[in-house]
Amino acid sequence: MRFSRTLIPTLKETPAEAEVVSHQLMLRAGYIRKLAAGIYTWLPLGWRVLRKVERIVRQEMDRAGAQEILMPGVQPAELWRESGRWDFYGKELLRFKDRHDHEFCLAPTHEEVVTDLIRREVRSYRDLPLNLYQIQTKFRDEIRPRFGVMRAREFLMKDAYSFDVDEAASIESYETMRRAYRAIFDRLGLKYSMVEADSGAIGGSYSHEFMVLAATGEDDIVSCAQCDYAANLEKAAAAAPAGEPATPSRALEAVNTPGTHTVQQVAEFLEVQPNQVAKTLIYLADGQPVAAVVRGDRELNEVKLKNLVGAAEVFLADPETIQKVTGGPLGFSGPVGLGIPVFVDQELYLEPALVAGANALDTHLVGLNLGRDVPQAVRADLRNAAPGDPCPRCGGELTFARGIEVGHIFRLGTKYSQALGATFLDAEGATQTIIMGCYGIGVSRIVAAAIEQGHDDNGMILPLAIAPFSVAVLPMAASGPAAETAQRLYGELLAAGVDAIIDDRDLRPGVKFKDGDLIGIPLRLVVGEKGLKNGQVEIKHRAGGEVEMVAVDQAVARLAELVAQGGGLAL
Ligand code: ATP
Ligand code: MG
Repeated sequence: MRFSRTLIPTLKETPAEAEVVSHQLMLRAGYIRKLAAGIYTWLPLGWRVLRKVERIVRQEMDRAGAQEILMPGVQPAELWRESGRWDFYGKELLRFKDRHDHEFCLAPTHEEVVTDLIRREVRSYRDLPLNLYQIQTKFRDEIRPRFGVMRAREFLMKDAYSFDVDEAASIESYETMRRAYRAIFDRLGLKYSMVEADSGAIGGSYSHEFMVLAATGEDDIVSCAQCDYAANLEKAAAAAPAGEPATPSRALEAVNTPGTHTVQQVAEFLEVQPNQVAKTLIYLADGQPVAAVVRGDRELNEVKLKNLVGAAEVFLADPETIQKVTGGPLGFSGPVGLGIPVFVDQELYLEPALVAGANALDTHLVGLNLGRDVPQAVRADLRNAAPGDPCPRCGGELTFARGIEVGHIFRLGTKYSQALGATFLDAEGATQTIIMGCYGIGVSRIVAAAIEQGHDDNGMILPLAIAPFSVAVLPMAASGPAAETAQRLYGELLAAGVDAIIDDRDLRPGVKFKDGDLIGIPLRLVVGEKGLKNGQVEIKHRAGGEVEMVAVDQAVARLAELVAQGGGLAL
């Protein structure tokens, strides 16, 4: 491609609306332009990257035996009512009506549509297993679209769905996808981690997320420095504390604690450590009030609470609800004497005498012993894992990092097949429900994640596998021998199957160098008259900055070799 004839509207200034570096660079490099909040047009360079990501995903899905289809982006409400999600999905589901007043939505995901397809087309165990996938535009009316295409409203996803006759076969399908995902992220050239994720109702270790490691990631990842344990913080188990529940050391007593709303305030006032305070939070779990108690210096893990209660959603209760449920104001809740279910983090039982709210204004309890004073409480792992905790698997040292979720594999069991009646006849002629799995990859998010991971002050540093072009040919002059040789080498690169762009603009070399760095082309071939006098051209590596001088007639072979080594392919 010729730079001069391609729409590459690079920007000198960093757009003010972009908070993270990938968003800034995608705008500055002319990869994307915003149409509305969370809705973007992909310009030629960005689109090339997206297509390269898509191609790797497609090749590995095909290799794993999945079959590509394409499902509609507009879906009828009836199907979503059948699965129960029309009411449940909430505002992320964009709904509308057609001219006949029929209700529809824009697809945020395709479990309903694919299950509907399968219930119509699959009759017998002989038709299974199946794995169907698509690479298709999703719409989710995200509450806070941000970071450009990282959390967009309209975005490109690869979604796959497996259909099996029984649990064992379904696990096999899951493992096949897990291997395919590893192959995909290896080929993309990204630093990533596969972590255990919350699998909600299914339980077990049957949900994994693939995280691109980057400081700007929205997810916390916990991993062990000694073994291969890695989990999303949402899921990471806090190791059970060593030691027996403590026996009471004193009587329970109410004390006056004026104006002490926070753990810090009450700890200072009563001259105890925050870890001696039983922090009590009132939640609404599917509308029902529950109390969750963790140590004052810990964070409650809402996903653990949700799973423990068996609720679809949990929200912190508002002050009025707290007053109604506990009899006291916000900031003075405690577990004693509550008429609602109480869930207590296991670690609190090690403390013989705790401080807690007394469910009355300006009052706290001291001497609280949970075993004695709240006997009906459910004892569980409720807190976030924290630095210093031992690995729940091997006792080793846990490390914490941030990640961007780029893929998610999940066993669904019979959730959708049951709701929609997707069954098959087994070898004995009995009707059985199909077992499903689903497997997502955020294709467009991967582009942003790759840039978060690969950039410097001058712009993007993209892996060869997904860079918009592998090689940028830069003639140092617009005419004369340098321009002519550059043209010839450019033509030879294309003929050799190397994805190349020639910067044929009549601009100062400095401008071309800057733009070349900004748009993330991994290899630069500089053709200047000085070098040509010695029969040489210069190859520069964007990532490490290394420069190689090569003979003019070796340049194409050398570049083709470097591109092949880095897994670069022409579109
Ligand atoms: P998140 O927790 O980030 O909202 P999710 O659990 O809603 O993700 P899935 O429903 O599992 O995501 O979707 C599959 C993949 O699609 C995710 O792993 C992610 O890479 C991508 N994805 C999800 N939401 C968005 C979005 N708003 N913008 C871009 N990509 C997204
Ligand atoms: Mg989401």
